[in-house]
Amino acid sequence: MKILVTGAAGYIGSHTCRLLTDSGHQVYGYDNLSRGHREAFSRATGGRLLIEGDLLDTLQLKEALQQLEIEAVVHFAAFGLVGESVKNPEMYHRNNVEGSASLLHAMHEASVRLLVVSSTTAIYGEPKTMPISENSPAAPINPYGQSKWDVECLLQQACEHNGLGFAALRYFNAAGAAPDGMLGEDHRPETHLIPIVLQVALGQRDRIQIFGDDYPTPDGTCVRDYVHVNDLADAHLKAVNTLTPGESIQVNLGSGIGTSVLEIVKHARHVTGHPIPAEMAGRRCGDPPLLIADNSKAQTVLGWTPKYSSLDSILTSAWRWHQKHPHGYQAT
Ligand code: UDP
Repeated sequence: MKILVTGAAGYIGSHTCRLLTDSGHQVYGYDNLSRGHREAFSRATGGRLLIEGDLLDTLQLKEALQQLEIEAVVHFAAFGLVGESVKNPEMYHRNNVEGSASLLHAMHEASVRLLVVSSTTAIYGEPKTMPISENSPAAPINPYGQSKWDVECLLQQACEHNGLGFAALRYFNAAGAAPDGMLGEDHRPETHLIPIVLQVALGQRDRIQIFGDDYPTPDGTCVRDYVHVNDLADAHLKAVNTLTPGESIQVNLGSGIGTSVLEIVKHARHVTGHPIPAEMAGRRCGDPPLLIADNSKAQTVLGWTPKYSSLDSILTSAWRWHQKHPHGYQAT
């Protein structure tokens, strides 16, 4: 299939481009490079066409879809930081919601009817039941989660009224790196737990601050469901192959295993051989105590089973990437 990937130079985008390409799809990237890395896309695809453009540029998107005879779109391009979204809700609405509306309009004009879109566990807010199934009500508690829920609602309308076929993949905590160390996580600034822990092991930071040890969890620190980026990429491949015009799919993508912040730090000490000093700090605003996926629907609907998402596989692959690329893609 000819596939346009928005946000193709980002973390999950680049890993997915690599798998789609290796599986025989013709991949084209679309990215404004505000947060992604040209090098990531180039490594992922062996140098296929990357169009530098913004989601809000509907005309450029439409022309790309038409000229490249695109059959399906995989849509990653979005901002994804809860804290930033709380400070700048309008920026999140504009980029994530209006950007997706612009893409949808371009697709409509170009008669492209198949879409896989990144969504998030943040749409559920603080769910009352655990693990979280797709039946949990949407109740986002921050502008990031709200923006992704708005996008899902928009797509549902396009599905019902315009024949769009889409899959909304609701990620839990994406983590890890390509096992060969070619692709990995490179956010600036970095706010995610695992890269920060590994930066301590590399000597780039003095210590990890643990945001809260008084949560109602077994060790008092927040519990998350970490899912390997290669498993997420695999779900996109399976979703592309499952899409049908006029039908929608919503699935959770998580390992189904909860891991606390302290467990991450302890296992990272084991993997890196570094003492990784930790200090307790106050809670971070907006952090739910516990998020664990019920991933049974993804298994049934997509035939997806996580294969790389053990804690050891996540931390070993991430550590390999960070050792090989202590400054991310910058020095390459
Ligand atoms: N966290 C932490 N110290 C850090 C970064 C994150 O204790 O320096 C915690 C954070 O409060 C959350 C968990 O690690 O409970 C995962 O945070 P991350 O930002 O990686 O992902 P999120 O769950 O926010 O999407």
